[in-house]
Amino acid sequence: MRKPEIAFASAPLLGTRVEIDGLTYELVRADPYIRVSDGRPTYVLTWRGCCARCGGSFDVKTGLRAQTINKRCRTHRAPGRPATAAAKIRWARPKSGPTGR
Ligand SMILES: [Zn+2]
Repeated sequence: MRKPEIAFASAPLLGTRVEIDGLTYELVRADPYIRVSDGRPTYVLTWRGCCARCGGSFDVKTGLRAQTINKRCRTHRAPGRPATAAAKIRWARPKSGPTGR
C-alpha cells in the first residue's frame, strides 16, 4: 500500500519543510476549516514547491493528509501523469481528494 505523501496529525508550523520524491515543499499557510463530510475541524495546508520541470515556485494546497502532491507548476502540470518514473502513482481507487478539488 502506498504511504500518503502528506500525513500530519495536526497543522505543522509554518516553514516546515517536507521532501517528496526529491522535491522540497515549504509550508507557507495553514488555514483552519471545518471538513464538510464529518464536521470535524481540520486544516488546509498551502505548500510552496519547485516545479519538477522548470524549477519555478508554485503553491499547492493539501489537507493534513494527502496521497500525493503536485510536482509541477500550473504550466507543466499534466494530471494523471507522474513527473518522474520514480513517482509512479498507482491508486487502487482514487477517492475525491481532501481538498475536494
Ligand atoms: Zn514548470
